[in-house]
Amino acid sequence: MANVKLTEVTRKFNNVTAIEDITFEVPDGEFWVLVGPSGCGKSTILRTIAGLESITSGGVYIGDDLVNHVPARQRDVAMVFQNYALYPHKTVAENLAFGLQMRKVEPRIIKERVEKVARSLDISHLLDRKPKQLSGGQQQRVALGRAIAREPKVFLLDEPLSNLDAQLRDDTRAELKQLHQRVGVTTIYVTHDQVEAMTLADKIIVLNRGKVQQIGEPQQIYAYPANRMVATFLGNPKMNILPAIYAGEVFKIGEQVLICPGFVRDKLQLREGQGLDLGIRPEHINVIEPQRRRERREEEEGELFVEVKVIEPLGRETLVRVSLSGLDLSMEVLASGGWRGRVGDRISVQFDLNHLFIFDPASGDTLY
Ligand code: ATP
Repeated sequence: MANVKLTEVTRKFNNVTAIEDITFEVPDGEFWVLVGPSGCGKSTILRTIAGLESITSGGVYIGDDLVNHVPARQRDVAMVFQNYALYPHKTVAENLAFGLQMRKVEPRIIKERVEKVARSLDISHLLDRKPKQLSGGQQQRVALGRAIAREPKVFLLDEPLSNLDAQLRDDTRAELKQLHQRVGVTTIYVTHDQVEAMTLADKIIVLNRGKVQQIGEPQQIYAYPANRMVATFLGNPKMNILPAIYAGEVFKIGEQVLICPGFVRDKLQLREGQGLDLGIRPEHINVIEPQRRRERREEEEGELFVEVKVIEPLGRETLVRVSLSGLDLSMEVLASGGWRGRVGDRISVQFDLNHLFIFDPASGDTLY
């Protein structure tokens, strides 16, 4: 087992900078997830650690060793890809054993390890089958088993669940988590799926355009995103972003106003006329039932007027897409499961201002 460290790693392909100045250290035994949109550099980082990709500058360390020039097969890492190509003519047992045979491990030890790995992944009953006699999820487990059997210092997993259907993906994800808890090998896992990232990771690295945006525990990143990209990437349904202008104690959003809470004004030195991006998660917006609205004359703090555009019942709750009255700006809000609104209804919603985020519109940095 080993920790994995990258220091200021950059990889350029001619004029494309795939990853830039990547620095992080995964402690021995932890499960870290690299997450970000397509093309952000996730696979390049993983391939760099595996030794399948050279780097333009920086340092890659496994344990205490600088491995920049160590060939892939000597790095003692195991990588599992999305298309986990098993050997089609070999049985499951032979697939599991193959890497060990190549390393000239004693047959008796190979047999023991194959049996142990098969037991831990619940594939003992499949050892005599060929890959084409297995389901997608079973093949995926064999691919993982092949990596585990080698007892590598580090596991690198590149979107290993993306070929599985939704139910199987959820099940395999849970198994993977249990497996890591049992085996405890340092693991770096690539995904563009933020649910996988949130549920599996000890720590998440959020990447965008080849650069690290934020590193932290899932809940910490969710609660305190460093910038707008991170805030909108993690969370489903995602955070709403509303462009606004600060106008003396209120934010103007088109023709509507939202009170700027005192605790925000105390912390930020806002200028009159300053442009800002407000952020609020759907779960922090209340739909005000029309009846309750009629009972009150006064507008309440944090209230905005909207029109219902799309209604998506999700069972336990209802996802309602609304547009801000008088503006071409849509938001998603969560209403109760039995919510009875209709498309075209004009309703009001109320922000929980304790959960308001404020971003700099130009840099995207979190201001509040
Ligand atoms: P995805 O989620 O779509 O797999 P990713 O986050 O894994 O994407 P990478 O595959 O690491 O992204 O690619 C990062 C960037 O580097 C992309 O812009 C990609 O086009 C570029 N890139 C990757 N490999 C090469 C290559 N061999 N030659 C040129 N450009 C490359």
